[in-house]
Amino acid sequence: AALLEIEDLSFYYHDGTPALKGVSLSIGEGEKVAILGPNGAGKSTLLFHLNGIFLAQQGTVRVAGEVVTRDNEHRVREKVGLVFQDPDDQVFSPTVWDDVAFGPLNLGLERQEIERRVEEALHAVGMWEYRSRAPHHLSYGQKKRVAIAGVLAMDPDVVVLDEPTAFLDPAGQRALLKILEGLHGEGKTVIIATHDVDMAAEWATSIILLKEGRVLAQGDTCLLVNEE
Ligand code: ADP
Ligand code: ADP
Repeated sequence: AALLEIEDLSFYYHDGTPALKGVSLSIGEGEKVAILGPNGAGKSTLLFHLNGIFLAQQGTVRVAGEVVTRDNEHRVREKVGLVFQDPDDQVFSPTVWDDVAFGPLNLGLERQEIERRVEEALHAVGMWEYRSRAPHHLSYGQKKRVAIAGVLAMDPDVVVLDEPTAFLDPAGQRALLKILEGLHGEGKTVIIATHDVDMAAEWATSIILLKEGRVLAQGDTCLLVNEE
């Protein structure tokens, strides 16, 4: 069975805005998936459903065969880690080290295991040297990497990133792609939302085209040949 399975998912914001309209899709273990679509397509709303931040109003979201509900959303959040688009929504502790340790501390892990995870995650994103620094003094790209490390320290099976290369310069974008390759190499399923067709074509093994809350197509990257 697929690792993530969404069936007929619809979602309306409080003001009545329809953000998702009957979305169905499935994502297998070990895939590199790009959810591609213009601003307002519903990408962020969809990602919030993958780790239980949003619960389905209509339709179902399954993670590893289990329907996500209020009762198991915490367990789902340990399996599926979400990196927000804006690191300022995610990075808030006095030091980089504390920030990455926050999740593992909440899991109630032993001190040694927390230290091991923080060190590994910070090395994975190239931020170990910055561990004693204050996150709010770092550059945008560095904060973004700290946010990714915070998610990695939870050791999720699936890492989901909302617009990971947005606002990064070309070198920052290359560094980020390298980090994504590293995650995939470790056996993680990696899902990104992006409006960058070139990045999706270069990186993904599977593409989901989203527009106005609907899935236009899902398949491999040759879908993009017929775009525009
Ligand atoms: P994307 O990530 O592809 O840019 P979003 O999921 O953010 O798309 O938005 C999908 C739709 O929902 C858009 O029409 C957007 O304006 C609307 N939307 C997003 N957040 C809210 C909100 N908090 N309240 C009302 N409408 C929202
Ligand atoms: P650096 O110091 O590495 O050049 P900056 O922190 O100055 O990085 O940010 C790089 C780019 O990202 C700039 O164009 C900046 O305007 C933009 N940026 C910074 N913070 C944010 C944010 N919170 N949301 C959106 N864009 C941002």
